[in-house]
Amino acid sequence: MISRIKKSDTVKILSGKDKGKKGLVLAVFPEKNQLLVQGVAIATRHIKARKQGQKAEIKKSESLISLAKAMLVCSACHAPSRVNTKTLEDGGRARMCNRCKLVT
Ligand SMILES: [Zn+2]
Repeated sequence: MISRIKKSDTVKILSGKDKGKKGLVLAVFPEKNQLLVQGVAIATRHIKARKQGQKAEIKKSESLISLAKAMLVCSACHAPSRVNTKTLEDGGRARMCNRCKLVT
């Protein structure tokens, strides 16, 4: 099984508060069916100063979203597209854009 979405792909978010946003995939966790997308699902964490000299701060970081919420944006036709997989002549598997048939 080849994963639909890989690191450094661009994806479009289909649902949730960031619906419609596009972002770069920072990491994929296939075993959890989740991924991290730059600028999407930002969680704000308020961190208290615990040690002397440490400052209280507000940290913003991406949180994991479900793979089902993201759709790959094809690098060739720049449209969110479904992904097919294709068996190559050498037996390997590749992804293929369902719209422009580009094999990546
Ligand atoms: Zn395409």
